[in-house]
Amino acid sequence: MRKESKAFQAETKELLNLMINSIYTNKEIFLRELISNASDAIDKLKFTALTNSEILGENSEFKITLAVDKDKREITITDNGIGMTYDEVAENIGTIAKSGSKAFKEKLENVSKDDVDIIGQFGVGFYSGFMVADTMTILTKSPNSDKGVKWYSLGDGAYEIEEIDREERGTSITLTIKAGEEFDTFLEDWKIKELVKKYSDYVRYPIYFNNEVINSTKPIWKTDKNSLKDEDYNEFYKANFHDWEDPMLHLHLKVQGSVEYTALLYIPKKAPMDFYSKDYKKGLQLYTKNVFIMDKCDELIPEYFSFIKGLVDCDNLSLNISREILQQNSELQAISKNLEKKIISELEKILKKDREKYIEFWEAFGKNIKFGIHDMFGMNKDKLQNLLIFRTSLDEKYSTLKEYVDRMGERKEILYVVGEDLATVTSLPKMETLKEKGIEVLLLTDRIDEFALKTMMEFEGKTFKSINDSDFKIDDSKEKEEEIKKLSEDNRSLLDKIKDTLSGKIVDVELSNDLGKGASALLAKGNISLEMEKVLSQLPGNEEVKAEKILALNPEHPVFKKLQTLENSEEFKDLLDVLYTEALILEGFQIENPVEFIKKLNNLLK
Ligand code: ADP
Ligand code: MG
Repeated sequence: MRKESKAFQAETKELLNLMINSIYTNKEIFLRELISNASDAIDKLKFTALTNSEILGENSEFKITLAVDKDKREITITDNGIGMTYDEVAENIGTIAKSGSKAFKEKLENVSKDDVDIIGQFGVGFYSGFMVADTMTILTKSPNSDKGVKWYSLGDGAYEIEEIDREERGTSITLTIKAGEEFDTFLEDWKIKELVKKYSDYVRYPIYFNNEVINSTKPIWKTDKNSLKDEDYNEFYKANFHDWEDPMLHLHLKVQGSVEYTALLYIPKKAPMDFYSKDYKKGLQLYTKNVFIMDKCDELIPEYFSFIKGLVDCDNLSLNISREILQQNSELQAISKNLEKKIISELEKILKKDREKYIEFWEAFGKNIKFGIHDMFGMNKDKLQNLLIFRTSLDEKYSTLKEYVDRMGERKEILYVVGEDLATVTSLPKMETLKEKGIEVLLLTDRIDEFALKTMMEFEGKTFKSINDSDFKIDDSKEKEEEIKKLSEDNRSLLDKIKDTLSGKIVDVELSNDLGKGASALLAKGNISLEMEKVLSQLPGNEEVKAEKILALNPEHPVFKKLQTLENSEEFKDLLDVLYTEALILEGFQIENPVEFIKKLNNLLK
């Protein structure tokens, strides 16, 4: 028979240490985690039995059993689910399951031993046992193996694993509870019952304790909404969707009509650790006729709602369903469409009724919605555009596009400005002038923002315009135009010289009345804006993507007057370079050559 002593994976070991030594107050959740695993194991067995009923054998009354031995200080959780083979134990129990281990490591580097929040961010289910136990022992048998397996660990970084003789299918996990008053209560009958009621009441399989079923066994999603409290939904969420924090909101749907299904959806408070990594898989759990079919049914949820967790139960699906069949299943497609509509209308409702909550949602997942608008050539923009909110120059608070449009009066264009952050965009020279004139501008600080608006092209018949676009003028009256034209003619040779000197960097230079107290600014002509250059040129192979830049100069500014007098002197080039670089900095670009810039600046100061 096989037998080995092994060490945990490095990350697992770190996690274990962290857990064992943490002051985490919520140690009692270990029971929820182990019961969830037992329930998952029965789900898996049931699903396999759909196509291979032999594996059930005699033992087809599914249940989870809890037992406490006070003298030995032991708690045992037993299930008659799928069990594990030797290799499965080695693989599943020696590693951190749900976390991207890289993300985990990065996080660990910035965390102190007492930092407890981190524990909750990972799929640490099984290991949470070590918060209350000195040792954990697993006895298990898979229907795919003749032998059973024993796994044993002190939680000290190493474990033993060996083949054993075992008849019963399924898994038994025994914890020896740590000494100390704070742990004694876990050995009390009332405490076990209390914990099951609190965290695991809606587990669908009966949980036996002292020959009595102590949970309700009815799936929560089939329970009447009116008899459920927020806490019920929240506990179910935490027990099933790998989050240790309550969700931001839940949505319980019972849909009847051409397509019938029940759904329970959750929006988390925060994006999970691995949300922006390749490891993250979106999708909802799928059940049919009370049988768990799969964990992450991708077809049920569009990409822009990938943060939504939850489940769908639809009795009309065929039981012997496979992934290939699912992909073309028309029922599933109908559910997906229907769900999408419900989610959008729910979000619109919150946006209308509870702005604070919506902002909380938006700050966590707004990027997703904006990507959704930009993605697929704007195919989904009509559905999603009413969910958009942006801060505006009015009061730097969030505003919907509709609210903005209602305030803009006769103006034809929705104005926006793009930059790194609020401080940068609000301090641009043009913004000063716009503010004085009471013209409202959307403040865009996410990389995706401008791409989304460009994809939309218009909203309620109003087009979008960047205030840094070369053909945007704050005052487009004839007189102003004439005035600038005349001034430009008077300075023709100077402007030509500037354009010449900066050739390769700018495509043109112009005089502008829009700069307020500023001396210079950059504008862009054509399809690629300044901000888009910054984003696109970061992509591999795109290094050469450049906006067509125009240098705008304020003819009223003393530096411009200086430029006029210096036109034929040595310092001209330096002064011009400084002006151009200032404009680059204002727009959040990297300075091309900082050392040179400082030298020139110092020369001029002399
Ligand atoms: P997760 O449940 O998120 O996968 P856990 O740490 O809770 O992470 O469990 C790790 C893995 O160990 C599970 O994915 C499963 O494969 C296996 N496992 C744990 N408990 C059981 C059990 N009672 N029966 C069968 N397999 C189990
Ligand atoms: Mg688990």
